[in-house]
Amino acid sequence: MTTPIPTTQTAQILIIGAGPAGYTAAIYAARANRQPVVLQGMQPGGQLTITSDVENFPGFAEPVQGPWLMEQMSAQAAHVGTKLEADTASRVDFNQYPFVIETDSGVTWHAHVVIICTGAQARWLNVAGEQEFRGYGVSACATCDGFFFRGKDVAVVGGGNSALEEALFLTNFAKTVTLVHRRDSFRGEKVLHQRVMNHPKIRVRWNSVVDEVLGTIQGSLRSVTGLRLKDTVTGALSDMPADGVFVAIGHDPATALFHGQVQTDKEGYILTKPDSTATNIPGVFAAGDVKDRVFRQAVTAAGMGCMAALEAEHFLAMRESDSSAAV
Ligand code: NAP
Repeated sequence: MTTPIPTTQTAQILIIGAGPAGYTAAIYAARANRQPVVLQGMQPGGQLTITSDVENFPGFAEPVQGPWLMEQMSAQAAHVGTKLEADTASRVDFNQYPFVIETDSGVTWHAHVVIICTGAQARWLNVAGEQEFRGYGVSACATCDGFFFRGKDVAVVGGGNSALEEALFLTNFAKTVTLVHRRDSFRGEKVLHQRVMNHPKIRVRWNSVVDEVLGTIQGSLRSVTGLRLKDTVTGALSDMPADGVFVAIGHDPATALFHGQVQTDKEGYILTKPDSTATNIPGVFAAGDVKDRVFRQAVTAAGMGCMAALEAEHFLAMRESDSSAAV
């Protein structure tokens, strides 16, 4: 006889999201003997699962692969006692205590602390053709889709670290890579800038924005043929041939679930107290890219996950001492 899965469960610390912030929060909370639960969501491991070489996470002399690094964090969290749930939060209610969190699989969690670590999602250009050709030549993940462009001409849109890294990564497959950037200088780090400028397969279209993604549709077959670019200085339009387009223009915080529940800024980033991960709701903390528009690094997200777990432990300990003093 199989035991039915209970539809209501409790957690001392419930962590929503499984990137570096979520796993680090889990490791610290588990080591504080709080039996944390992580709702891993649709993309366990977060943005690093779609990153190739990671060279700047301390502790590794040689570059490591993003997916491998996240597997290690997940395994470490499980090893110290975290319950990892392959489930996605679908509704939260922070007006009740314990907090109520419902999931896609129909479980209702009652949690004494919630740590929000839902990260950020790729931003799109919102130009004609982009949506139509997504998955048919338009992508936001070179690591995932670069392989399909062996020997082809591709474009990368953006001028930050992500765009520069994606362009360099794509040179492993593509015949040529054209970086399309709306200004005349990159936002990304100098070291990447130099690698890009010195790479024989990469060229740059400065002062250019995408006006339209061009392509053909024949029955169920769709393929990208190029980009219509607009010169930001002269306003002139020109067509550039390309077999694939990688959009790397930044991210938006994944906070739709929390609207009306915690304070956010006008772009949706969760607001926290200075030098803290505490939100405006006592017992709800936020860590990583979901609250950080400035640094957005795996290592800073991990650091904030640690802070959130320590603050969560302090919050629970204070409540416990208050309630035992009241007896
Ligand atoms: P980002 O730094 O915000 O850069 C976004 C780029 O896209 C900018 O160059 C921006 O142009 C351009 N852009 C934005 N909206 C656009 C639009 N609608 N049309 C055309 N271009 C547009 O984002 P990111 O590169 O994803 O990086 C995010 C954070 O992660 C950064 O802090 C970055 O340092 C970090 N990161 C680090 C690494 C690493 O250290 N290895 C790797 C990847 C990312 P403007 O420059 O004109 O604003």
